[in-house]
Amino acid sequence: MEFKLLPYCFFHNRLMPYNEAKLPLAMHSLQYGTTCFTGIRGYYRDKGLLIFRLKDHWQRLVNNVKIAGIPFTLDWDFFQDTITGLIKLNNPTHDIYIRPFLFAENEALSPRFDGLDYQLAVYVMEMGDYYDTTRGMKLITSTWKKNSNASIPSKAKLGGAYVNAALATTEAHRLGCDDALMMNELNEVVEASVANIAIVYKGEVLMPDIGEEQLEGITRDTILSFLQEEKIPFHFGPIDRSLVYTCDELLLLGTASQVIFTYSVDGRLINAENKPGKICQILRDKFKKLIDEGKSPWLTRVDLL
Ligand code: PMP
Repeated sequence: MEFKLLPYCFFHNRLMPYNEAKLPLAMHSLQYGTTCFTGIRGYYRDKGLLIFRLKDHWQRLVNNVKIAGIPFTLDWDFFQDTITGLIKLNNPTHDIYIRPFLFAENEALSPRFDGLDYQLAVYVMEMGDYYDTTRGMKLITSTWKKNSNASIPSKAKLGGAYVNAALATTEAHRLGCDDALMMNELNEVVEASVANIAIVYKGEVLMPDIGEEQLEGITRDTILSFLQEEKIPFHFGPIDRSLVYTCDELLLLGTASQVIFTYSVDGRLINAENKPGKICQILRDKFKKLIDEGKSPWLTRVDLL
């Protein structure tokens, strides 16, 4: 799906027109995927933009920098001022998706994170639904395994690691499906290509443990707090493929995806009615209420013209 880019970005330490941001062909981060990024949603309400969990996205980027050994100190005030300044300049009138990332422009040949000159860049796009939220997802379990934590850390959103997701998504599309579930070397379903997962089984919610090969998703964390508030029982543990085939609901959780439900996996029907299940609806309603009320400490409001 294509989303409309907004006219200004942050690049080379300043706000500038997106079309003027140019990069060298031989740049390290393009050749080797040595970037580190996040994706943040902003909701347009009452002539203002509500940024969702900005500080948590910053914290995850800081943790990612530490995991990868990227030589860059990402200051909170700098990050916050850059993003709010960029939103003000773009003055959006829709919900948006904000993509901050760290990259190295060096024309250096050897793959490495150290010894490079990292900088922050940010661009913004309009984004409503990433997937059609009115129907369920048709999924496959990918034959490409999720890269092991022992090879590429799943906790870090490193650009190059997304080749794994690209392979799996392409396989899903080739089979006429929307997206793929990823299994680890033990054939446990650990996440979707770009979203965390939760299943509803016998009235309880089950998610893969945080130590599994999955990103420490901010939507996953939000959903956990909603489950606690609603006193819906949840557990963490391994999810095998049979459990996925026989669950009552399979939810994908992510910033772009938000909370979406599953119609089928590998041709097995999960939700024959193709409507959000009970838990999916509760979680979606809570999410919408949180944004519409605009009062949660998770929201950073930017006033617009
Ligand atoms: N897993 C992967 C691999 C992802 O790319 C994403 C999207 N960022 C997620 C999970 C969900 O994380 P979040 O809720 O923080 O967007």
